Amino acid sequence: MAVKYASIIIDISHENVDRIFQYRIPKEMLKDVRIGSQVCVPFGSGNRVRKGYVVDITEKADFDKARLKDVAGLVDGSVTADSRLIELAWWMKEQYGSTMNQALKTVLPVKRRVKARNQQVVKSMVEGPFSSPDKEEVFLNREQKKIVEEFCRDYDQGIRTPCLLHGITGSGKTEVYMAMIRHIQAKGQQVILLIPEIALTYQTVMRFYRQFGEKICVMHSRLSAGERYDQLERARRGETDLMIGARSALFTPFERLGLIIIDEEHEGAYQSEGAPRYHAREVAEHLAGMSGASLVMGSATPSLEAYSKAEAGVYKLFSLHNRASAGSALAVTEVVDLRREMAAGNKSIFSRRLQELIKDRLEKKEQVMLFMNRRGYSNFVSCRSCGKAIKCPHCDVSLTLHNNGSLVCHYCGYRIPMPSACPFCGSEYLAGFGIGTQKIEEMAAGVFPGARILRMDLDTTAKKGGHERILSAFGGGKADILIGTQMIVKGHDFPGVTLVGILAADVSLYAPDFRCAERTFQLLVQAAGRAGRGRKPGTAVIQTYIPEHYGICTAANQDYQTFYRLEMGYRRLMNYPPACHMLKMQVAGRDEQLTGHMTDLIRDSVVRHFGSCVEVIGPVPASVYKVNDIYRKILYIKQGNYDILIRIRKYVQDRWDETEDCKKLVIQYDFS
Ligand code: ADP
Ligand code: ZN
Ligand code: ZN
Repeated sequence: MAVKYASIIIDISHENVDRIFQYRIPKEMLKDVRIGSQVCVPFGSGNRVRKGYVVDITEKADFDKARLKDVAGLVDGSVTADSRLIELAWWMKEQYGSTMNQALKTVLPVKRRVKARNQQVVKSMVEGPFSSPDKEEVFLNREQKKIVEEFCRDYDQGIRTPCLLHGITGSGKTEVYMAMIRHIQAKGQQVILLIPEIALTYQTVMRFYRQFGEKICVMHSRLSAGERYDQLERARRGETDLMIGARSALFTPFERLGLIIIDEEHEGAYQSEGAPRYHAREVAEHLAGMSGASLVMGSATPSLEAYSKAEAGVYKLFSLHNRASAGSALAVTEVVDLRREMAAGNKSIFSRRLQELIKDRLEKKEQVMLFMNRRGYSNFVSCRSCGKAIKCPHCDVSLTLHNNGSLVCHYCGYRIPMPSACPFCGSEYLAGFGIGTQKIEEMAAGVFPGARILRMDLDTTAKKGGHERILSAFGGGKADILIGTQMIVKGHDFPGVTLVGILAADVSLYAPDFRCAERTFQLLVQAAGRAGRGRKPGTAVIQTYIPEHYGICTAANQDYQTFYRLEMGYRRLMNYPPACHMLKMQVAGRDEQLTGHMTDLIRDSVVRHFGSCVEVIGPVPASVYKVNDIYRKILYIKQGNYDILIRIRKYVQDRWDETEDCKKLVIQYDFS
């Protein structure tokens, strides 16, 4: 048998994971030492025995073989949480294409010295500036109860098929999660609950705090590295059995993991942006499998990936069809054709019908949410004489006009004062185009004088606590109209809101992404779901130029099944995921020619080697080709078999590592 070497990190809680030591694996241990194994090794000049984890096993030594020491022994006992995370890191590295270091850094926290502030993280959120009264106990309705009972029965019988909980907005999915969590806790097992960062608000945390008390751990991006580390240490020591957090909470070192729940499973934020570019849903499925845990995913608008797996029987499908709280019904949805408004001479961004309804709500002292389906402020400036738009010199995007008069690049932060004349032709007629939330606020104030208006977007929430301050002011009835972007549609429960206006439903349909119809449908359904959460019935108005688009009419009817059927048909026709798998490779570099040349080379070599079994598209420029003076080219490779794509990724990476130019360029892989 060939000699093998183990790469080992010693004492992961103290050392930087960059420091990896190589040891020889003695013959008799070869069959037992695996990635993730905890082993004893002689360390340092005194050869003191220390424990470490195996993070990689190779057939070649990176150092002088004669000087390598032997692994001294295998630590037995149950698999530790850390072993499992290391094994998971290795899987992620293979699956998504990253270095082992990047993968380890994703799953293992690096220790930073901090004052002990354990419980404060939950407390500071719970004892915020606003406290809410204790809620009465909720008794599950029949639909909810049936699901919880079936889940518990399966769990007790050792059935671990992942479950998809499809429930309309407000159908009581969260109550179902809580009942499942109680069952798992009663068995002495632990639970990870993932919630998208944007929905991880005071309101949500408070709900869980009331149920489970101080034993819950919460992780969100506002925590410092030290605070995060503390939360994870509490979990490691078994002082908590419920971790609530965004994507990275998946890597909580629980020894007795029994259940992973992913709320709002369809959210884009579950995919990591840095290497490894993992998807939390996939990693959770793998981790649950490794740990013998269950996986539950919930959404009102499941991703096509998840729903198609449920259809194929890979996931078990649970459905909630009704709003949970008594007397609450789904909003009535009205679609307004903006082309007709224009024809009738109404140039305002508020259609006549929407204006009428807003006035009605203002009279009745009910609340209104106005939603712009577009991020931030998108007011670009162009010249009325020559027609040119003012663009960022470093990126392929237009600069955005802010209220303080400066022009800002939203990709790189480049900022200049608004020029007094056109930089191209000298004309003084420069004008802003496009509509941002600031502009909508101004216009609303004009059309509805006297209305109290709040705005929530990147600008107003930039300061710490800005988010929560606006939400609690609106929740407390201190405003009549809340205007916002994506941020306002996620997971907030405002019983006083009886009207939601979606000002331009089509904007996101034009995104250069095969998922744009899916994203639009999700946003519209979630936005409409904000109306009528209380006793009073709600209305949602969808303004659009293309009312006949299937993404818009199915959302207006809150008809997921029809949307799914039509969208799946489109994906099959175009051979897009989930009808097939797709590997996106992006090559980026400062040298435009070199970037293009390398992408061509990769394409040619993939076609030569795998040509007959894959479909290769590109190279094409990225939708924003230049960012921060870096050029980006993309190749898409489609294949029904995921494993073949993983092989292609490895093939490319191996060749890439051998090239001269790889240091000047960055390659990134993205699987879907
Ligand atoms: P979802 O997570 O599906 O959007 P929630 O769990 O937030 O739904 O429930 C929506 C509202 O209905 C909440 O105010 C919740 O307290 C209430 N609710 C949920 N289940 C019940 C129930 N069985 N009886 C009464 N109210 C319920
Ligand atoms: Zn000009
Ligand atoms: Zn820029």
